[in-house]
Amino acid sequence: MPPDTRSTVGAARIARVEILCLRYPLAKPMESVMGRLDSRPALLIRLEDTDGAEGWGEIWCNFPQPGAEYRARLAAASLERALSIVDPGAPGDAFRLLRQRLHMLSLQSGEGGPADQIASGVDIALHDLASRKAGVPMATFLGGAPRALDGYASGIDCRLAPEMITQARGNGYRAFKLRVGFDRATDTGILANAAGLIEPGEVLMIDANQSWTVSDIDGLKDHINDAPLTWVEEPLPVDRPDTEWARVAAVLHAPIAGGENMRSADAFDNAISGNVFDVIQPDVCKWGGLSGCLDIAKRVIGAGKRYCPHYLGGGLGLVASAHLLSAAGGDGLLEIDVNDNALRELLAGPLLPLRNGRAVTPDAPGLGVTPDRAVIREFQVLHFDFAPIDDSAET
Ligand SMILES: [Mg+2]
Repeated sequence: MPPDTRSTVGAARIARVEILCLRYPLAKPMESVMGRLDSRPALLIRLEDTDGAEGWGEIWCNFPQPGAEYRARLAAASLERALSIVDPGAPGDAFRLLRQRLHMLSLQSGEGGPADQIASGVDIALHDLASRKAGVPMATFLGGAPRALDGYASGIDCRLAPEMITQARGNGYRAFKLRVGFDRATDTGILANAAGLIEPGEVLMIDANQSWTVSDIDGLKDHINDAPLTWVEEPLPVDRPDTEWARVAAVLHAPIAGGENMRSADAFDNAISGNVFDVIQPDVCKWGGLSGCLDIAKRVIGAGKRYCPHYLGGGLGLVASAHLLSAAGGDGLLEIDVNDNALRELLAGPLLPLRNGRAVTPDAPGLGVTPDRAVIREFQVLHFDFAPIDDSAET
């Protein structure tokens, strides 16, 4: 190993990395416009420093279905050397530094997304490690405090809306988001009956998952505008031109939400400063980690808009999302998928189930949750365990 030339002599370094890819098989496949899933993955990362302290993070890996194992292999291969540039004592710069380090690789492969997602997971793990060492909850480390959050039941297939909403209501939820966009007739039917799905004091949102065109929206607009919707999420693909987004914003009365597929500071800047998006939803495991998303969340709230973290994955990333929303402030709702996924409940610690209708952010140091090794062993499909190589003297 080359000699340590960094100036932080004596400071702790990352000594060990584990990448853990888990899969929970579904008894009944889950369908959306993104495709059909017959299992639910979670990709975890554990970092241990030279003082023996640990930190956990989660890397977004939902789609395509085989993508979790690929990201696990990519993380193991790329982080072996890349981690030498991060300082566990200064996690606030981790996403930016790692993303810089992985930039050429992502250009060469034409795949920026997996690099963003891996850097996000590392950023979360470093924040967990640093806040555990500081003895404070992650939300406090980020400048706020853990709090009880209003959650909403997400991922509801509109074709199963009555039964899924009834079940979620029984579990304490008062806000529900339907996945639409399967076909015009189904969308029309569900929107026409939307008011009957909720009770007084409850709220309803829809998510088209980027599946509509401007012409679809023109055809559906009366039904959308007649429905009691708190927001309409991703009505268009994220890469449609500004003119199309402006048209959709002019036609629809409900607030427009988006952000889970925005992948640059510029894209978020445009969403914050523009007139299209009222609700902005970065995903802490997908782009930015805590360091990138906290800055965006604060600017969203500062601009008078609503920050509602996107999240669909295992329980660890959900807990990170809760700390981030706790720290950012505002009246945003915490997104909680209510489809079958044991890796959510088993890894979310005390955050789930809801208590008195609210998700209570853990107040123990760091995330306040440490994954149970028995759970990991039960669902693990890939495991990498290595010491990072310090190549700082070579670069
Ligand atoms: Mg969405």
